[in-house]
Amino acid sequence: MNSAESNVDPAEIAKFSDLAHQWWDKNSEFKPLHEINPLRVDYVKRFTSLQGKRLLDVGCGGGIFSEGLAREGADVTGIDLAEASLNVAELHALEAGLPVSYQQISVEELAAREPGSFDVVTCMEMLEHVPDPASVVRSCAALCKPGGYVFFSTLNRNPKAWLMAIAGAEYVLKLLPKGTHEFKRFIRPSELSGFARQGSLQTLDLTGMSYNPLSKQYKLGKDIDVNYLMACRKP
Ligand code: SAH
Repeated sequence: MNSAESNVDPAEIAKFSDLAHQWWDKNSEFKPLHEINPLRVDYVKRFTSLQGKRLLDVGCGGGIFSEGLAREGADVTGIDLAEASLNVAELHALEAGLPVSYQQISVEELAAREPGSFDVVTCMEMLEHVPDPASVVRSCAALCKPGGYVFFSTLNRNPKAWLMAIAGAEYVLKLLPKGTHEFKRFIRPSELSGFARQGSLQTLDLTGMSYNPLSKQYKLGKDIDVNYLMACRKP
């Protein structure tokens, strides 16, 4: 399943398209993404400066992360397959006066057209929504310049991740709509690292992102049991 056409779940795209008008509503279903955004941007900045860098954000949705990176001085291209989300993202960047350009194209197709053309590639909270995440990881690697950095974030697959990310977040705390995530699509860090190796990426770091339901705060740390980020370098 390597072709651009087949590595997409239309139901996932429809799900995000239906919510597209809410991307920038900080009290909507997308609230968790707004809350983790500064943590994610800081994580990327631990490894590389963003000033003047050519950056690709894969599965950008309404542009929450893309804009965060553009505010740090990166020249950002965001790609997604949900047209409604891209329209929202485009308008929002225009209003914010940020240099982000958006395209409706699969990462596999862009990798075939423009290999090795980005200093930094990011792919946040997207791999757990695609049929063949390894293909996305390989394409992100192909799009990165030698010496560049690639960052991923996703959900781990184990009983605690099911409890926290599905039972807890969707059913008990209602942070996310029911059906947002499918457990079988969650990815263990060892699997993600393996996909990265297939794309000749070196894994530099794994960091957890955890939610404390009492303080309602997210933080980065050693606990990679549920949400985690991975930093890679292309030699
Ligand atoms: N990366 C953004 C949005 C995450 S939500 C953020 O973290 O803020 C997941 C996104 O992945 C949605 O915008 C959805 O449309 C997109 N997506 C799902 N499958 C995709 C695919 N096959 N190709 C590109 N984008 C996809």
